[in-house]
Amino acid sequence: QCKQARQAEEQRIKVCVRKRPLTCTESRQREADVVTTPGGECVIVHEVKEAVDLSQYILQHKFYFDQVFGEKSSNEEVYHQTAYPLVQHMLKGGKVTCFAYGQTGAGKTHTMLGSPAIPGLYALAVQDIFAHLSATHSYQLVFVSFFEIYCGQLYDLLDHRKRLFAREDGQKVVHISGLRDVRVDSVSSLLEVKQGRRTNSSTSTPNKVFEVWSVMTQVISQGTAERTQGMSGVNPLSSRSHALLQIQLRDSNQQIAGRMWFVDLAGSERASDAKEPDRQSRMEGAEINQSLLALKECIRSLDQEQSHTPFRQSKLTQVLKDSFVGDSMTCMIANISPGHTATEHTLNTLRYADRVK
Ligand code: ADP
Ligand code: MG
Repeated sequence: QCKQARQAEEQRIKVCVRKRPLTCTESRQREADVVTTPGGECVIVHEVKEAVDLSQYILQHKFYFDQVFGEKSSNEEVYHQTAYPLVQHMLKGGKVTCFAYGQTGAGKTHTMLGSPAIPGLYALAVQDIFAHLSATHSYQLVFVSFFEIYCGQLYDLLDHRKRLFAREDGQKVVHISGLRDVRVDSVSSLLEVKQGRRTNSSTSTPNKVFEVWSVMTQVISQGTAERTQGMSGVNPLSSRSHALLQIQLRDSNQQIAGRMWFVDLAGSERASDAKEPDRQSRMEGAEINQSLLALKECIRSLDQEQSHTPFRQSKLTQVLKDSFVGDSMTCMIANISPGHTATEHTLNTLRYADRVK
């Protein structure tokens, strides 16, 4: 029974690592793959060091996590071990959150959004949610919203980057006023968002689940495109902001009956780069640093009985307040690059993820 309790608790916070393969460009540039993933729970970073006599030796940094995915694992495999249990909990009325953490280019968006050929966790989760609702003839409705947090400010990615405001009410519940909330149980409601106008074709098709899924992916892709094009600069906005996708289940009387967050976090390297060239970048870096530190503390506090959760320390954790209390479940996927030039950032990511546990 003790073991069962421990397993249940382990399920509450799950920290996984995903290593991506070297890209073609990296292979061409003779980047060395310095990360190995022996077994399913271990990751080793091999660091080449120079000795005093200028000879070289290799330092091994070994870490253990709930699960480690090697470069050969697919989005589907990652989904089944990470977001799938969260979806199950959400369908029973729970509040769940899935984070993608890591350096820019380490594979966060590939994991979360993927591509039309390789759908990511968003689409796989939505597909399962719809499959479940239709199999159980449920009357619950599905609502989706998608926004980003940049420098502590909220922008609606489904509404032309409209500025949003988060407020706490008398019951200490955080609301985001003005957030566009799209009901996605009909394909036409999605098309409406996609095309910016009302459509009247809503004939049901035999493969409705697939259709909703594919249109949903298009909407999210559009929001993501909006994200990267939103601002010009050296670094794409996507590496400097957190993107939050929220999926809500509601009863016919509008009561929330399950809530899921997917968070594609800002590039973690931005938190550690102190030598940024300009003031704006330094400000962004400080903001990202603050929010990632607060996030770590909030997730850690989930595991501790004495609960002071410092969710007010950043906009990110304030908005996600519900995720750090009560019967919630959280999974973090720390994405890492395999290349030797990324070693420092890779080690930083693994140390961060290690401390989240
Ligand atoms: P991030 O969102 O963390 O900045 P991306 O997801 O955009 O990183 O990934 C950077 C590049 O690496 C992209 O070209 C992406 O397609 C590729 N990539 C990332 N993860 C994988 C993977 N597991 N398998 C194959 N290619 C990947
Ligand atoms: Mg990305």
